[in-house]
Formats: sequence, structure tokens, C-alpha cells
Amino acid sequence: MVTPNTVDQIYVREQNLSSVLRCLHDRTRLSRAQIANQTSLNKSTVSSLVEELINRGLIHETGTNSVGTGRPGTNLELNPQAGGIIGLELGVDFLSVVLSDFIGNILWRRFESVDPIAGEDSTIALTLSLVDDAIKDCKARNLRLLGMGVSTPGIVDLKEKVLVFAPNLHWRNIPLGRIYSQHTGVPVFIDNDGNTATIGEHLFGVARQSSNFIFVFAGVGIGGGLFLNNELYRGNNGFAGEFGHSPILWNPAFQAPCHCGNRGCWETHANQYSIIRRAEASLEVKRHSIIPQLMEQNKAPLSISLIKEAADAGDKEAIDILSETGEAIGLGFASLVNIFNPEKIILGGPLSDVGGYLLPAIKESVKKHAMPEIAHQAEILLSAFGTDASVIGAIALVVNDILLNPVHVEKEVMVES
Ligand SMILES: [Zn+2]
Repeated sequence: MVTPNTVDQIYVREQNLSSVLRCLHDRTRLSRAQIANQTSLNKSTVSSLVEELINRGLIHETGTNSVGTGRPGTNLELNPQAGGIIGLELGVDFLSVVLSDFIGNILWRRFESVDPIAGEDSTIALTLSLVDDAIKDCKARNLRLLGMGVSTPGIVDLKEKVLVFAPNLHWRNIPLGRIYSQHTGVPVFIDNDGNTATIGEHLFGVARQSSNFIFVFAGVGIGGGLFLNNELYRGNNGFAGEFGHSPILWNPAFQAPCHCGNRGCWETHANQYSIIRRAEASLEVKRHSIIPQLMEQNKAPLSISLIKEAADAGDKEAIDILSETGEAIGLGFASLVNIFNPEKIILGGPLSDVGGYLLPAIKESVKKHAMPEIAHQAEILLSAFGTDASVIGAIALVVNDILLNPVHVEKEVMVES
């Protein structure tokens, strides 16, 4: 008979399993004694929890640890081979599908361009065939599939796992969680792309161990996520993180219209289109740039990759265009610094490809426009994952669930109790 008392014991044990697993995720390699120290659990409890996590295939032993004065202990770490995880990023005009191991290393990937007006049926059918390919690869590697994460460009009902609305795709009420869990037979998690990227950066990237940071995803638009006091902040209706539509200029009548319907939004000055507009304006009046020559050679229209190529070759105009964009990005960062006093602001997404050129100007702009006492405390840096930030974040949704609930992963080896 299951009594309330045993229910409590099961709950406490599950919490302790999670503590040990998260401790190893945070610190990479530890002996049993070190885990006991870090988690304040007694050594025999830790040994039993470690045994269970090994049986579930989530951690393994690796070498010895001779740190400290005591007897060397066997090191433990997360087992990358615990299983495979599928990440899907539904972009506005692309699909990215990856298979990773348990610690986020990408093992396999596919990228497909899609027409944003193709409609949900054909796009979802394409994702399912890519997911099938990922599952085949996972089996060929002899890995069990642990779960699937989906990053979407829209508002998500987390409980029902439904994409409620994706404005750029005009999709409404798509039960993505049900579609993918029926297809794969594994747990599926979905979230908005800015939030997934933020969770991914916290779990695997440059914001590991940060309790207050902001992730800014810059591409066609500018959005992202707020990680405050150790958790993702979603806002009253789940819309938090739409930074790009904050007005940054006092006289919007003279500013380019934004696709949100307003004028003067930060992103119209700082997104990827703004770089192209600056380049077009600059090339009209300045004649020394090698950008026109590169367009001619490559038989390609003006693009960020061509501007980068010119900047890499030392083209002053290309470098100036990117610095000016960095200054505009920095204006928005300065507001974020003043409002949230973050430890870090991280720039990810397509614009991080030219991040090396943007970053010095962003930092300068923040120094100039944010309150000095707060500005110098905020580190500004590039995402560890660049354009992959959201798809890595999709993987992170699954890993996060396992770190919190290790019992969701079945035992690989049956032990006699
Ligand atoms: Zn706007």
C-alpha cells in the first residue's frame, strides 16, 4: 500500500536525484564525497543516488580525483551517451533540425529553407521527415532517444504545448506538442525562440551559472529572453522579451515604419535590414568601398555576408556600417542595462556572425548612454552558439527537464532491489 509517508519519501528521493545530477551538470566532474559536500546530503545517500543515476545511464565513472587530502575518489560526470535529443527550430523562412547527445554536442544536423507562406501542413510534413532522418541517425549510433525540443517564432501555451500564434507565419493554434510526441513516442517540449535561446545559453553557453542575464536575439527582428533571479521571466501573458519594439527615438514621425505597425522601434535601427539600408546609403555617396566589386564578382545582391567579407578585407566603409549598427544596438542595450542591472547581456542570432565588428561599438554606446554605476557591471558578450542559439535552446528544454526529473529517463540496467 502506498501511504502518504512513502509518497513523501519517493518525492524526496526524486528531488535528491535531481540535486546530484544538477550538481554534476554545474561542476562537470566530482567524486561522491565532493557531491556530498556540495549537496549537503550524507555520503551513503549520495552513493545510493549515484548508483541509480548510473543505472539510468545518465552519469558514469571517469578516472580518479585526488583533490584535497583524503583518499582519491572515483570521478563522476554526465554521460554524453545517455541518449540522443532532437532539436527543431521552426524559423520564419527555414527549418533547422539537430540531433545532440546528452551534453549538447551536435551529432547530426539538417537545414532547409522554406517559403514562409507555404502553409503549416507542408512545412510540418517536412519537419516530420527531417525528424525521421534524425531518429534513424540516433538508432545508427545505438543511442536511445530521450526527447525532442521545439523552438517556435511565436507565443506558446506551455501547458498544452500549443503554438498559439506565430505572427510572421500567420499560424494559429497548432498543437505541436501532440504532433511531435505522437510521431516520435518521446516527451516533447516547446517554447518561444527567444526563451529557448536564453535557456540554452544558461545550460550550455556563456551564461552558465549566471543568475541575472539578458539574451538578445538579433536578426530580421530583435527579441530575446530575460533570465532574472535564476529563472526565465515570461511576463504577464508570456510576451516578455519583445525588446525590438521598444521605441528609442523621441520623434518617430521621421523614422522608418516597423512591421509591428509603429515607428521608431529599436529594431528598425538595429536589425539585419538596417545594415543593408546603411550600406545602400553609404555606397551612394562613398566610392572607395570594395563592396560593389564583391557583388559583381559573386554575382550576388548586397548582403551581410558580403559586407562582412569587405570588412574582413579591411574595407573602411564596411567597418563603419557595422560600427554604426553596433552603436544603434548599444542604445537598446543601454536601456536594458538601466532597467535590469544584469550581470551579462548576450548577443546571439544572425547578427552575431558580424559580432566581432559590432561588439566594440555596442560597448562604447552602452558606456555612453547607460548609467555609469550600472554600465560597468554589465558584461556584454557574444552567444556561444551564434545562429544556432535557438535550436541549441530546443535541446536544452529536454536536458532541463531531465536535470529536474531524472526519473523521466528509464533505467537501462535492471537492478535487484
Ligand atoms: Zn516595432
